[in-house]
Amino acid sequence: MSTKKLLILPGDGIGPEVMREVARVAAWLGRRRGITFDISEDLVGGTSLAEYGVPIREEVIQKAREADAVLFGSVGDPKWAHVGFDKRPEIAILKLRQELGLFANLRPAKVFDALVDASTLKPDVVKGLDIMIVRETVGGIYFGEPRGIETLPDGQRRGINTEVYTTHEIERVARVAFDLARKRQNSVCSVEKCNVMESGLLWKEVVTDLHAREYADVTLSHMLADNCAMQLVRNPRQFDVIVTGNLFGDLLSDLASMLTGSLGMLPSATLGAVHSDGRRPALYEPIHGSAPDIAGRGIANPIAQILSFAMLLRYSFGMQAESDMIENAVAAMLGTGLRTADIMSEGMARVGTDVMGDAIVRELDKLQG
Ligand code: NAD
Repeated sequence: MSTKKLLILPGDGIGPEVMREVARVAAWLGRRRGITFDISEDLVGGTSLAEYGVPIREEVIQKAREADAVLFGSVGDPKWAHVGFDKRPEIAILKLRQELGLFANLRPAKVFDALVDASTLKPDVVKGLDIMIVRETVGGIYFGEPRGIETLPDGQRRGINTEVYTTHEIERVARVAFDLARKRQNSVCSVEKCNVMESGLLWKEVVTDLHAREYADVTLSHMLADNCAMQLVRNPRQFDVIVTGNLFGDLLSDLASMLTGSLGMLPSATLGAVHSDGRRPALYEPIHGSAPDIAGRGIANPIAQILSFAMLLRYSFGMQAESDMIENAVAAMLGTGLRTADIMSEGMARVGTDVMGDAIVRELDKLQG
């Protein structure tokens, strides 16, 4: 197998802190399993603004195009709150998603047994929870035209954003959801607001047609987005794969993340279309942001970043065994009672980012034997 090209973009705030722990896991793979990568690293977000005056350089986007996968940290720094919208650090991730055509964001929300008490919901509601939210990420209201803020003749100002979806955009993300469901519990719930939005009506029609044509073996249900929010809190285990648009996916996946206890636990993947040479652009990142409130203190939870790397190995590099090992090492480490502050509970031992990283590497050693 040729050496895989991996582009690492740590970004701002806690991004570089949690990425350091990934580097240790990657080094372990080299040491104990003989797996090495062709790794390059670059600046994005506020760190890129400070060095180059832009949140992401064209050169970095080109490197991302050439990589087999991108591992992203997080971007965002209150220091740059005053700059124009098109220069904000967050533009780096939006641009990457757009330029690489990354249209399907996969966010698993899985509850580790050892953390069942960390959720704000009762243990019997979340125990064993394992759902996957597939969110469309390059269309919908975040990109639709017309957009902007205009001044009306009477002096009032009006802000405009437009929700737009085409058949093609809906079909390709629904296909990702159906394919994933076939490898899981074979069930997809499609979420929109067809009762009040034409784009939602089209969404439902297109998903229903695609299902009948190509995925009749998968169980399909439909749900209004507001009801889905309620059902996620009432009985989240009823879901397997949820597929939805950009805006609803943004909200529902954050909601689902809290079922698991902490933003610091959750990885994500964003996939593009498969190219003619079989390669599929893919970017992996924790769902949390740069957490400026705790940056630089060595207390961030590195698990979401490490699990993002595990997802990368599974979906982009076909390394199922190594991906399983990393996930199992995280579960075993949690079983020993170590906790970063965000997932701390009574009777557990509070540790920082690097001690948790150490402990995960130790568990990997035990699993390797
Ligand atoms: P955030 O996810 O950074 O933080 C929310 C809360 O969760 C904070 O209290 C933070 O301390 C805590 N938290 C997050 N990750 C943690 C971890 N690994 N360990 C322990 N605690 C953790 O969200 P925010 O505060 O709304 O945003 C901060 C910045 O990040 C903003 O500039 C925002 O735009 C940006 N952001 C970037 C991304 C991205 O890069 N994809 C995603 C979300 C937010």
